[in-house]
Amino acid sequence: MRIQCIGRSPPHARVIVPREAPVTWTATYAPALGAPVIQQRQWPTMNRPVQMSVLWFRHGLRLHDNPALLDAISGPPSMFFPIFIFDGESAGTKVIGFNRMRFLLESLADLDRQLRSRGGRLWLLRGDPSKIFQRLWEELALTKVCFEQDCEPIWNERDQSVRATCAERGVRCEEFVSHTLWDPKAVIYANGGLPPLTYQMFLHTVSTLGEPPRPVEDPDWTGVTFGTLPPRLVKEFQVFDEVPKPEYFGLSQPGYGLVRWIGGETRALQHLRERLTQEEQAFRKGIILPNQSRPDLLGPPTSQSAALRYGCLSVRRFYWNLHDLFNAVSQGDPPAGLNISGQLIWREYFYTMSVYNPHYAEMSANPICLDVPWDKNPTFLEKWKKGQTGFPFIDAAMRQLVSEGWIHHVARNSVACFLTRGDLWISWEDGLAFFLEHLIDADWSVCAGNWMWVSSSAFEQLLDCSKCLCPVNYGRRLDPWGEYIK
Ligand SMILES: Cc1cc2nc3c(=O)[nH]c(=O)nc-3n(C[C@H](O)[C@H](O)[C@H](O)COP(=O)(O)OP(=O)(O)OC[C@H]3O[C@@H](n4cnc5c(N)ncnc54)[C@H](O)[C@@H]3O)c2cc1C
Repeated sequence: MRIQCIGRSPPHARVIVPREAPVTWTATYAPALGAPVIQQRQWPTMNRPVQMSVLWFRHGLRLHDNPALLDAISGPPSMFFPIFIFDGESAGTKVIGFNRMRFLLESLADLDRQLRSRGGRLWLLRGDPSKIFQRLWEELALTKVCFEQDCEPIWNERDQSVRATCAERGVRCEEFVSHTLWDPKAVIYANGGLPPLTYQMFLHTVSTLGEPPRPVEDPDWTGVTFGTLPPRLVKEFQVFDEVPKPEYFGLSQPGYGLVRWIGGETRALQHLRERLTQEEQAFRKGIILPNQSRPDLLGPPTSQSAALRYGCLSVRRFYWNLHDLFNAVSQGDPPAGLNISGQLIWREYFYTMSVYNPHYAEMSANPICLDVPWDKNPTFLEKWKKGQTGFPFIDAAMRQLVSEGWIHHVARNSVACFLTRGDLWISWEDGLAFFLEHLIDADWSVCAGNWMWVSSSAFEQLLDCSKCLCPVNYGRRLDPWGEYIK
């Protein structure tokens, strides 16, 4: 049922009747809605906007380069409601450990702070998104729901349900691609309807699409009116007064509790500036991807993977900042054949590969994954998880993973190879489940893609299985003085 404004009453005290039954509307509807027939809007003055537009944050927890935000605050005057819904799965909250939840909550708190400084707030609701949008439509004049594309198939059911709810009620539902450089569906389309099975094919396909779009402009907050939810909806949606702590969700701090990574757009942009300074110094010395070519296991936390995963940092902003910097340093004459943003393209590749494959994170049902007869060894698996294998480098990495929620790429490669084809011969699915819980940047498709890659289970399937990372020598090479281990 949609409630509709009629008559010439000013918007702050108008008669509201359901659209379907304008004539028969009586007080009998009121108890069901829990609302009086004559409803007092929160809007303080006359000639205020009467429509309601929602920006539904899922990933993309930022204000910069946010096309969904620009759309939500554009068009006819409307009340603007930025919301995040704790539905038990959005933003990867289905399988989540303390550190990742902390990073997510810090990112939400950062958004809330930024919005409050502009006169609004972030509404943190609990419930099923589809039902929430239905209720917003029933109770308020919801006209538009904007969100960033969540391209992985695990979000399809949620988004289709929301789209159907909105479509039935004539609410505009606007989705924007900004979590990835290109639209993964457009990449697949450009490749004749099939995901490009190799990285080289992927590079070729995206080259036919041209450069990824540049970031959109920052929002202009002039004239934006933030809405307020009526108390009955605050109660019904169990709105949080303030951003909760991970303990609220029954999670407790693991390991030695060192916090190196802090979530949120503000911190991500600060890290980006530091990172670009590092990159510039490297470019000037003719080095690209410095953190990969010269891994520093004890270095400062400059990784952007968690910020990219939650969208606190726009991948397009990162990509274009890197390229513009590189072009400036090389004075418009960049050496050919260098892929300075190659790592970002891997992220893109794994997203694209999973778009139409709901079984991407499994072995047997997954059409791109080899069926490997892995061992079942719960004791070894447990020792690996607890960092008790007896191999100091592997154990140090696993303990860092559990305590901090982040380990360097070379350490991820080592522990993943060790668990699978290198030493324990245990399925990558077990490793993935553990990573998804503990990594702050854990991303369903990126994590599964890397696990399949390292275990030689998918993709080019050309990895030479005789070349495994030695858990002793490789560790010695990366950490010759044992400082990381200590
Ligand atoms: C078994 C395993 C699991 C992994 N799981 C994840 C995961 O869940 N989420 C995640 O973001 N990365 C994952 N990675 C990839 C990689 O280890 C991290 O992205 C990287 O360590 C982040 O550090 P950085 O930001 O300094 O990377 P940089 O080298 O600075 O790269 C910049 C960005 O590119 C992306 N990127 C880098 N390497 C990869 C890669 N191999 N695959 C896809 N994207 C990449 C990340 O978003 C990263 O922040 C995994 C790697 C392995 C071996």
